[in-house]
Amino acid sequence: MKYQIPKGLFDILPYGADQDWRFTNQWQYAERIIHHLSRDYGYLEMRTPIFEKTEVFHHSVGESTDIIAKEMYTFLDKAGRSMSLRPEGTASLVRAFVEKNLSHQGALHKFYYIGPMFRYERMQKGRYRQFHQFGIEAIGPMSAEIDVEVIDFLNEFFNRLGLKEITIQMNSVGTTECRIKYKKKLLKYLSPHFNNLSKDSQLRFEKNPLRILDSKDPHDIKIIEKAPSILDTVSKEAKEHFDKVCKLLTNLKIQYKINDKLIRGLDYYTNTVFEFTSSHLGAQNAIGGGGRYDSLVKSFGGPDLPGVGFAAGLERIIQTMVAQKVNFPSLSFPFIYFIPLSSAVREYCFEKTTELRHLFIPSEIDLDAKKIQKSLQKAIRAEAKYCAILGDEEWQNKQIQLKNLATREQKNIALDKIIPILKGYWQDFSQNNKLL
Ligand code: AMP
Repeated sequence: MKYQIPKGLFDILPYGADQDWRFTNQWQYAERIIHHLSRDYGYLEMRTPIFEKTEVFHHSVGESTDIIAKEMYTFLDKAGRSMSLRPEGTASLVRAFVEKNLSHQGALHKFYYIGPMFRYERMQKGRYRQFHQFGIEAIGPMSAEIDVEVIDFLNEFFNRLGLKEITIQMNSVGTTECRIKYKKKLLKYLSPHFNNLSKDSQLRFEKNPLRILDSKDPHDIKIIEKAPSILDTVSKEAKEHFDKVCKLLTNLKIQYKINDKLIRGLDYYTNTVFEFTSSHLGAQNAIGGGGRYDSLVKSFGGPDLPGVGFAAGLERIIQTMVAQKVNFPSLSFPFIYFIPLSSAVREYCFEKTTELRHLFIPSEIDLDAKKIQKSLQKAIRAEAKYCAILGDEEWQNKQIQLKNLATREQKNIALDKIIPILKGYWQDFSQNNKLL
């Protein structure tokens, strides 16, 4: 019997992956950029557990959101306590921030996280049940500059990945009070249209009417077009903050569109919200989004510190990179590939392979070498840069054949020179390829 992976999950493999965006080198490439970028912007990595007490998510994400109402992987542990696999990263990060009293050290706290999230969603392209998010959170005094730092960070991430045709949408949802006011206005506007709304939107009418603005249903979209704008309802301070954010973005020449219907699916957002979309993805085109959450830290029992952050979905990002034919470097290859052509020389080659590995030089050996052509093919497939071929004849002459697989150039070198020569080649290669 052959076991199968559950629906909505996938393997990321070094080779033999079932889709063109599920190769390890693509993921490692994106992850390297994430770690470098976070360093450049001064964000520190936080790693929280994969599951938490269910109430952590209920409290922050919001009871009436789709995530909580329909999509959580919730289970009872052996002691009967309700636990949930994390559906997003902010709740756990804020829980840890408050629980471990991190606010005592410094004024502005900048963190990032990367890892799998879990939502029991209807399967379709761009929607998985285990997916990966990279996100950042800046917790500390509120300023428009921090909002823009976070938006610029995400924009720079996409630049470094080589992505094109990304659109940024901006909106402000104001404070909780602004939203209560707006909810009333919206319900008044929607009431006469109730019977024409989609089933989903009719359900949201009672529980979470703002989410109706997110509807993809064509009839709903027509009705929503003429709905009052939340930007006309938000307070003077919220409007001023939003205008400042927009001005700073313009100063940085970051292009954006204002979309006063952008709400986002989590309840904790206040003031600025934003979303990045790609034109290469079809229906599920959001590749990252976020916003401010000015009361979340306090609501967890922490200090009254506002925060702002984003989360970006790595599946959709890598899919977009593949669609846009971004060149993924192969991050793992042997620099030198030994081919011992007889059992007599195998031991020697094995020792040299090990010695080079101890010198931080990626090395491989074909322990099954029989025919030179076959072994050379293996070396080429593994993307080796050099081959060291040793047969009985070379062994007797105390020499080894060194072949540059890119230029096909080959020469015989003395056995006792092999290590220093390869060390020199490796140094040149790694300097040219920024590997050191
Ligand atoms: P959200 O937390 O819903 O705002 O999601 C942030 C980002 O995560 C989105 O822009 C998507 O790129 C990604 N994302 C959310 N849900 C899924 C999912 N089920 N499968 C794949 N990516 C997702």
